[in-house]
Amino acid sequence: MKKYVMIHDENLCIGCAACSVACKNENNIPAGVFRVQVHAKMKGVFPNLKTDFERISCVMCEDSPCVSVCPTGASFKLANGITLIDEKLCVSCKYCILACPYNARFINPITKAVDKCTFCYPNRKGATPACVSVCPTDALIFADTSSKEIKQIFASKVVEFKKAHLNTKPQLGFIKNTKGGYYE
Ligand code: SF4
Ligand code: SF4
Ligand code: SF4
Repeated sequence: MKKYVMIHDENLCIGCAACSVACKNENNIPAGVFRVQVHAKMKGVFPNLKTDFERISCVMCEDSPCVSVCPTGASFKLANGITLIDEKLCVSCKYCILACPYNARFINPITKAVDKCTFCYPNRKGATPACVSVCPTDALIFADTSSKEIKQIFASKVVEFKKAHLNTKPQLGFIKNTKGGYYE
């Protein structure tokens, strides 16, 4: 069984938001809400500046609090590690929105159900997600955890996971930006 991981290399990200736009097109996400955003964080004073681009989306927790609190089974996990939402079972109680430590969930104003990143699994069945396929700098990597590509990245780079101390075991990692003239 495949198990998917996504990695955002912040060194390669230029904050263009093409990933966010592609996600909206692919998944029919209405104006005002997002499955993925990239936030710019600037540090320092000119000319001693550094800008980090942080991906904000579902991190596909292996131990997902959103699933355990859902009273109807609308939030569920596939064996490949992807957490999905069955819109028909969602009663919009928002328990999962409160339980998610990553602020990844929102109410879709059209479906009235909870929504979030799905790694594009319902449309693409494990093929390259829309955000990854449009990224102009190849800052996003998506593959099976046992693939040669992912093994090579983990062997050669430091991949970190946001809020790892919460032990939800995210499957979306990031490579920290080391570019820029600002040093802490
Ligand atoms: S498309 Fe790629 S470079 Fe542009 S914001 Fe998204 S991850 Fe960064
Ligand atoms: S990031 Fe939030 S929505 Fe995504 S799996 Fe984890 S708890 Fe659920
Ligand atoms: S994987 Fe698909 S649903 Fe998730 S952010 Fe990328 S385009 Fe959107």
